[in-house]
Amino acid sequence: MKQFWPLVIVFASLQSFIQAQDLYMPRNIKNAYQKGTRSLTGAPGANYWQNKGIYDVAVTVHADTRSVSGTEKIIYSNNSPDTLRTIAIRFVNNIHKPGAPRSGFYGPDFLTSGLHIQSFKIDDAIYDINSDGWGTVNDVALKSALLPHSKAILEIEWDYPLSKQSGREGQIDSTTFYCAYAYPRVSVYDDYNGWDRIPHSDRQEFYNDFNDYTLSVTAPKNFVVWATGDLLNPGEVLQPAIAQRLKTSYTSDSVMIIASFDEMQQQKITQQNDWNTWKFKADRISDVCFAVSKNYVWDAASVIVDPVNNRRASVQSAYNDTAKDFHYYTKWGQHSLSFFSTQWPGVSYPFSKMTTFQGYADMEYPMMINDGTTENLAFAQMVEDHEIAHTYFPFYMGINETRYAYMDEGWATTWEYLIGIDEVGKAAADSVYKAFRVRRYINDASTEEDQPIITMSTQVSGAGYGNNSYGKASLSYLALKDLLGDDLFKKALHHYMDNWNGKHPIPWDYFYSMNAGSGENLDWFWNNWFFSNNYIDLKITNVQSKNNKATVTIENVGGFAIPFDVVSRSKDGKEKTQHFTPSVWSKNDKTIKVIIDNTEALGSVQLDGHIFMDATPGDNVFKF
Ligand SMILES: [Zn+2]
Repeated sequence: MKQFWPLVIVFASLQSFIQAQDLYMPRNIKNAYQKGTRSLTGAPGANYWQNKGIYDVAVTVHADTRSVSGTEKIIYSNNSPDTLRTIAIRFVNNIHKPGAPRSGFYGPDFLTSGLHIQSFKIDDAIYDINSDGWGTVNDVALKSALLPHSKAILEIEWDYPLSKQSGREGQIDSTTFYCAYAYPRVSVYDDYNGWDRIPHSDRQEFYNDFNDYTLSVTAPKNFVVWATGDLLNPGEVLQPAIAQRLKTSYTSDSVMIIASFDEMQQQKITQQNDWNTWKFKADRISDVCFAVSKNYVWDAASVIVDPVNNRRASVQSAYNDTAKDFHYYTKWGQHSLSFFSTQWPGVSYPFSKMTTFQGYADMEYPMMINDGTTENLAFAQMVEDHEIAHTYFPFYMGINETRYAYMDEGWATTWEYLIGIDEVGKAAADSVYKAFRVRRYINDASTEEDQPIITMSTQVSGAGYGNNSYGKASLSYLALKDLLGDDLFKKALHHYMDNWNGKHPIPWDYFYSMNAGSGENLDWFWNNWFFSNNYIDLKITNVQSKNNKATVTIENVGGFAIPFDVVSRSKDGKEKTQHFTPSVWSKNDKTIKVIIDNTEALGSVQLDGHIFMDATPGDNVFKF
């Protein structure tokens, strides 16, 4: 093994920095390492900073007119060394405006007039904002510059309509609404790119700072509100018996009905005020969202997520009583939280609660998911596992999903596969993973769309986005797990997660953290998987058998450093399998020879990559 070199050169000059770094870096990324906001050790640099907002948001849901109005106060800290002369305000739901650029087709029911700013103040200066011309991200020129290490107080009043056709948010049914991205926020200003001004197109996902939130949601009588964060005032909004049930569920292993369909109909759930204001609190979190319904049923349980101190997290589900799969969601959710906390990634679930909500999105939000219903219970559980797995990436780690979707989708896909093995066994999990995550990628006829994983997620086509973000990235993580072995892989992964929990890692921080955490220079592996046009395609070019050993010559036509089995079959049908990890490719040889032991007269030798599906499986067999 090579020595781990970055520690040595951290303090070295610019010249040696350029010579020493073996991974391609765009100039803005290189600048971040040179300024010391990032470090070749993989940890945040000595000069690392990130900005933060303390949000106090109060919204009212007008169910009758399908609209949301709100007021907010944001105490925004500029922790950067830069003087900010503009502030970028993001409102993702302007994706609904007719003129918004979108990655896909939507019908008229998706369209709305978007955000309407009623008033906008920064540090008591009134800004005359006409939000008619706003897209999903908008610069506001500051009347007085925001100096380094200083704060600004933003006060905004707004309203916006909820769309009839819902995507990641909007109307679910006439008395059920999923409200995400429901408030204008300060976009991210970071050390490697300045203001995040990439418009939301609906394909790429999000990038948010870690903020503190107080959220209050005012909804009409008999509407229940579920949201990110802890419910602070159950006694004010729920009838006493219901508040007691909810409290009991926080320590209950078994699933409890909090609000049945009949009780909802009989108005036995919420306090009978015309409006109830539900208050929630969540700190050091990248977003808050909420959902309201007058007709959904609600169940809840809890599960131990930290066996060391027996800390429990609440698991709650809200759904239409007719959705068969959702009757299992709380139970399945308990298993997800427990598995993710104790097995993979093996980091205690970082929140107090997870609420699963029936909508149409198949989407993750901090402490909430919104999934469509399906008759296929196995598929429903897989989608639930996937969305809950996102708790770690992007939420525990502050991933820039807009640029680097593979930094969260690839991991969620990996955890989805590993929890699947626990739930349905290896053979079934392999076949599901191949069907949903690999086959379409490797058999994609339009291989020109297959770009290196490091390519920004905004720069690849629809197919390229899916392949890079999910299948290819996940395969790279699983290839690394095979290369390092489970213990070292987990040690390195935890090193990366400890380094960047609550911060904004970029791909190079992952590479260097894993190098440091494993104690190995894996740059050959990163170059192979992330910076190449490689794909999966091995070929047996020759087998020579001599003295109870056979030498198998393998050409790596596609180039990816994958693990594989060599299956040798004797003439009388005896089979022997030998496994080779991706380390056989560490010298970047196009062709390698591997030795297999087989004392029998050989009939055939075959390569099997299992989930690493080969583009041309026909040339993976050698027959004597
Ligand atoms: Zn995902």
